[in-house]
Amino acid sequence: MVVTRFAPSPTGYLHIGGLRTALFSYLWAKKNGGKFILRIEDTDLTRNSQEAADAIVAAFKWLGLSHDGEIEYQSKRMDIYKRYIQKLLDEGKAYNCYMSKEELNELREEQMARKERAMYDGRYRDFTGTPPEGVEPVVRIKAPLEGSITVQDGIKGDVTFEVKDILDDFIIARADGSPTYNFVVAIDDALMGINTVIRGDDHLSNTPKQMVVYEALGFEIPKFYHVPMIHNSQGKKLSKRDGATDVMEYKNLGYTPEALLNFLVRLGWSHGDQEIFSMTEMMELFDPKDINRSASIYNVDKLDWLSAHYIKNMQNPELSELLEYFGLVLSSHDKREILLDALKERAKTLQDLADLISEVLGAPVVYDEKAVKKAFKEDSFEILNDFAARLKKSEDLHLPIDYHRVMEELVNERAIGFGKIGQPLRVALLGKLSGPGLDVVMSVIGRDETLQRITSAIEANS
Ligand code: GLU
Repeated sequence: MVVTRFAPSPTGYLHIGGLRTALFSYLWAKKNGGKFILRIEDTDLTRNSQEAADAIVAAFKWLGLSHDGEIEYQSKRMDIYKRYIQKLLDEGKAYNCYMSKEELNELREEQMARKERAMYDGRYRDFTGTPPEGVEPVVRIKAPLEGSITVQDGIKGDVTFEVKDILDDFIIARADGSPTYNFVVAIDDALMGINTVIRGDDHLSNTPKQMVVYEALGFEIPKFYHVPMIHNSQGKKLSKRDGATDVMEYKNLGYTPEALLNFLVRLGWSHGDQEIFSMTEMMELFDPKDINRSASIYNVDKLDWLSAHYIKNMQNPELSELLEYFGLVLSSHDKREILLDALKERAKTLQDLADLISEVLGAPVVYDEKAVKKAFKEDSFEILNDFAARLKKSEDLHLPIDYHRVMEELVNERAIGFGKIGQPLRVALLGKLSGPGLDVVMSVIGRDETLQRITSAIEANS
């Protein structure tokens, strides 16, 4: 069974780079009928917060990414880590090191003076003497002294590290007994049965260390997929400046989970030329071996395009429910259908859609100067009044087509072009020259409000 995990350190909000590897891990587990574990790596008490952990869980909830079993918190697993540290000590695979900070600094300076890599020199590796007084030891693991370690990566192929370039007997427990990062990651991945690790390639250099821990404890090494980073359009690592990187910010901007997940799955992974993937399709088609070897480029236009696609194709009841988050409650069923049908094709985001709808529902507060100049000609007010009079006389004004008929009668009888009524009416109703069809607007706001807006526009612009 495939068991994957997402293992964020709760130092801040969930960002899209993290979410992308979470999605990849989730999809691969689901595709294989496996398990997807959420593990919060909160051992660094100075940098981690419960708030950040909660924010990650909230983001998962919003996106509909479900994890299997309870959320694992590393902070609750300290006893387990201590047990394994002791086991390695007992088996002679790790040892106490009594080197003081000063000694370590001295060693480092000497090595740097010789232009060597700063590394621990193994002086307590085979120590049998009496430990120096007053020094709390750290625990170091016995790493290989020579040769190489090869990470068999499912994306990058075999990546070989020379031991002399990257390894020393690294610390697995600090002087206060707390375990170190690479040690706990390896222990957890092994004990939680994680056999497929999909994570950012910024972790690739940690992998040999984690493999040392696996070897020492006789754990099976998982399959690794180190995913290349996301870059901005200048080819630099994505930063906050490039856009909203906190996942929940995308919610506030009006992107739907479907759009965001579809956008993310395509950042670094492809399936032919296909751009649109439903969750079911993603689960069917995703395979980490198809992840690109090079960095992917973050392009917000693509996200907007996907977002527009999902909004356009969403059912109206669901759409109107989502709009409530943006303060828009559409109560009347018919009007809601007419409005959403007319406007959902024009919106990039839910926020856009909410704005477009509010522009129709609320009478204009200001009239766009340019639009007024362009639309209100000498005879415009008289034509508007004529139209208003016809509306008053009409019966059965409900649907857009009913209003359209009145406009048509007017232009036919007066033998004028449609623009003669269309443009001034548009400015009167919406304050500007853009927006949805006027018949839609009138049908949604109704006859009284239409008449009111015509009167106000004439008063304000005479
Ligand atoms: N906790 C690490 C991070 O948030 C990830 C560890 C891992 O995926 O192995 O960057």
